[in-house]
Amino acid sequence: MSNRTLIRGGLVVTAADEMHADVLVEDGRIAALAAHNSPVSQGWTAARAIDATNRYVIPGGVDAHTHMELPFGGTFASDSFETGTRAAAWGGTTTIVDFAVQTVGRALREGLDAWYAKADGNCAIDYGFHMILSDVNEQSLKEMDLLVEEGITSFKLFMAYPGVFYSDDGQILRAMQRSAVNGGLIMMHAENGIAIDVLVEQALARGETDPRYHGEVRKVLLEAEATHRAIQLARVAGAPLYVVHVSAEEAVAELAVARDKGLPVFGETCPQYLFLSTDNLAEPDFEGAKYVCSTPLRPREHQAALWRGLRSNDLQVVSTDHCPFCFTGQKELGRGDFSKIPNGLPGVENRMDLLHQAVVDGHITRRRWIEIACATPARMFGLYPKKGTIAPGADADVVIYDPHAEQTLSVRTHHMNVDYSAYEGRRITGRVETVLSRGEVVIDQRTFTGRAGHGVYTPRSTCQYLDH
Ligand SMILES: [Zn+2]
Repeated sequence: MSNRTLIRGGLVVTAADEMHADVLVEDGRIAALAAHNSPVSQGWTAARAIDATNRYVIPGGVDAHTHMELPFGGTFASDSFETGTRAAAWGGTTTIVDFAVQTVGRALREGLDAWYAKADGNCAIDYGFHMILSDVNEQSLKEMDLLVEEGITSFKLFMAYPGVFYSDDGQILRAMQRSAVNGGLIMMHAENGIAIDVLVEQALARGETDPRYHGEVRKVLLEAEATHRAIQLARVAGAPLYVVHVSAEEAVAELAVARDKGLPVFGETCPQYLFLSTDNLAEPDFEGAKYVCSTPLRPREHQAALWRGLRSNDLQVVSTDHCPFCFTGQKELGRGDFSKIPNGLPGVENRMDLLHQAVVDGHITRRRWIEIACATPARMFGLYPKKGTIAPGADADVVIYDPHAEQTLSVRTHHMNVDYSAYEGRRITGRVETVLSRGEVVIDQRTFTGRAGHGVYTPRSTCQYLDH
């Protein structure tokens, strides 16, 4: 019983159910659930008991889109695997899927091994990898098959960033054809980067250099067009498609049309698109740079469409695209030229709380919160039911969540290694209290008790929404 923990008296919330239940954890896994104070659970003994009265007991969050230490625009995302995964734990996220990067002209293997090395021994929570395909060619197409077998079952392609990560339509089609055979899932950054680069050049020539022009040149129509094109290419290839960081109402509409046809097309959005807007990008004195990411923040009116998409299941996942750059010294690289501002926002610590606030505000139900933040990302990327739920046999990745606590998000209290909060001063009802990762308490009543190296690499099966 020394390796047993009992979580008593909480409301267990999963994507499927809500029940007042006691949870028995043994050897890092969920051993059993039973009605609170039932004869069954009263018979359980454990070395450690956690009182979850008036708390939610929820699965640890699964953030399927993070970029720790990402090289971008001549600098690196400011969270390392160590600081970023610790911050994730603070925010109730117990699994991340980060992105290994292929360098143009080099093998996927080389990029993947480099990312294994960055993360190894440094993570506080479990992690997996997607692979960014920067250079689709005969060799990298062959390597895709090997990676799928190894547990890297998803591949990100970019219709944006010409000269960096960009793939043309022919390369995209080839990668999709390959994934249709090997079972991989193509994740798409859907923006027409060739057209955007023309608009960037024209804006700069007019002297429009402030951060807000980042939002103006990356037009809604160029996200919608690329989303439409990606869907049609996937149909031609007979492949499934997952569109990352959907921000525009018109792009959601493209996904909805495809899904109404029964196509295996999925969409992700991020907290920044649900809670922030072009108003933030327009903040004076270059402060707007804090909110530069791609796809960009949109006018506030788009938020309603995103919430609607999450309710109607035209959007299935909320991930963070966590890619922090400090305002001082990093975002500042783009003073006088918005195109040089490193793209990305911090958020890995804030996602579970912001989405709980959405429950409080009536945008989504409690179970939908768990579905879009835990269960669906786990299924989408082949981690379910090990991750994403509380059920016998699942990893004991569990969050004790106080739904009544009040907190104010701030750089002064967050744990991400970045010098600002994108949500500074925002009041949230609800707060993470205690977090277990594979049965180990890593946050104990708001004290970090985990360690770098507890988190392990977690290979994934293929997307569990598809038949293979
Ligand atoms: Zn990303």
